Amino acid sequence: MKMKAILFKKKGEYSLEEVPVPGLESKEVLIKVNSCGICGTDVHIYEGNFPANFPLIPGHEFSGIIEDKGKDVKNLKIGDHVTVNPNLPCGKCDQCRVGNENLCIDLLNLGVRLNGGFAEYVKAKNSLVYKLPDEVDLESASLTEPLSCCIHGIDLAQIKPGECVLVTGCGPIGLLMIQLAKICGAAKIVATDPIEKRRKLALSLGADLSLNPNDVNIQEAIGNFLPGKPEVVVECVGKSSTQEESIRLVKPGGRVIWFGVANPDDEIKINPYYVYKNEITIKGSFVNPYTTKRAVRLLSEKRIRLKELISHRFSLEDFDKAMMTHMKDPDRIKVVVKP
Ligand SMILES: [Zn+2]
Ligand SMILES: [Zn+2]
Repeated sequence: MKMKAILFKKKGEYSLEEVPVPGLESKEVLIKVNSCGICGTDVHIYEGNFPANFPLIPGHEFSGIIEDKGKDVKNLKIGDHVTVNPNLPCGKCDQCRVGNENLCIDLLNLGVRLNGGFAEYVKAKNSLVYKLPDEVDLESASLTEPLSCCIHGIDLAQIKPGECVLVTGCGPIGLLMIQLAKICGAAKIVATDPIEKRRKLALSLGADLSLNPNDVNIQEAIGNFLPGKPEVVVECVGKSSTQEESIRLVKPGGRVIWFGVANPDDEIKINPYYVYKNEITIKGSFVNPYTTKRAVRLLSEKRIRLKELISHRFSLEDFDKAMMTHMKDPDRIKVVVKP
């Protein structure tokens, strides 16, 4: 049997191809893809800035319906609506054995090192597959993976009820962070983004103030509004300038989470005395260790709004338009491909 899939052949080159539907090992399931979101990582892979195995079917944010399963899969059945944690740890390395699966030295990820969801079908090991209640919207469920990554970031931020939070950057990630900070009991949430549509969405999803960093002095505006500095800054831009700035924006004693994906070659200037004297904690947050179940629950219990983050939908045939929209359209939030 054949299926349509997007194939990244090498850096900078992809096309829509007819490829064989993947065969299953005994503990794998075959999923008919409903929706697969485009993520910055897909662009990094395409541009050759992220280590991946070519030729590759990309796509790591997807949902679908189980079409077939291997003989040893007992926890799932054909017809189940599912979403997938794309990150498969080796289970054997030092990090895996102390509970840091996201830091596994041999992390196999669907859509990066194994084939992913920009195809009619994708296969996954049953341990990575999460059943969804039938009434959960499958398109929204394709955002489970980014949501699970954000939950990890929020865990690291240790937001206490009554604290104030600044989220810099209101793409899909920032807009999820705002909602999670609210759930954690943040007293006030400030969001920044140069794009008006995103700032408006930030306000409707729970931010109390949204600022255009090109128009105002962020530090001053936040200082007047809160008043003072926020206890937590979640950096969701991934630029060295905003990461550097985040250290000065947080309250002494506060936590800075670097969530945005920086260019691997970037360096920034930090004043170590300032960090020391003010007891600033800076934490990186990488992928989604043990958070997919909680993401599925938030989704199932309708505690988080995902549908509003999806701004564009494309077919596999229009993958090129989908990529262009993701990279060039300032009004896009999440672009989803529907095979
Ligand atoms: Zn992603
Ligand atoms: Zn490992």
